[in-house]
Amino acid sequence: MSLTGPYDPDNIFAKILRGEIPAVPVWQDDHVLAFMDVFPQSEGHVLVISKTSRARTLLEVEPEVLARLTAAVHRTARAVDRALAPEGISIMQFNGEAGGQTVFHLHVHIVPRWADRPMKGHGHAPMAETATLKALADRIAAALEPD
Ligand code: 5GP
Repeated sequence: MSLTGPYDPDNIFAKILRGEIPAVPVWQDDHVLAFMDVFPQSEGHVLVISKTSRARTLLEVEPEVLARLTAAVHRTARAVDRALAPEGISIMQFNGEAGGQTVFHLHVHIVPRWADRPMKGHGHAPMAETATLKALADRIAAALEPD
């Protein structure tokens, strides 16, 4: 998949948004969804996506969608910090296959970091148990500040 091209409505995040495959949500509103990455690179790895845009990459996104997405990343990262007390947080976003992107619906990664726990490789992490992800999502959601 190159940097440019048509939006595939059957990409995995579009299917999650349509409820065709399960996901573990952290929070959502009419514009954005924050949910747990099922192959977490560290404990508490959250993804944030737009519910309204068909942008595949950052290059394609509408500025007003990006503003809402960025605000959602900020709110979620602050909740991750309050809930899990990481020593650092990596915010990552990949564009194009050569840029490391594997799902072509724009998304931002929030990856909590601890000095003594190496982050697993992007695309090389094992699948997490749903119950584990739900417990983490509940803790993060409970730490959300008012919108
Ligand atoms: P990308 O490589 O495009 O930046 O990130 C895609 C992310 O989606 C990866 O971190 C991967 O673990 C995650 N992912 C892939 N398939 C699924 C899925 O079915 N459910 C969830 N929740 N995450 C997924």
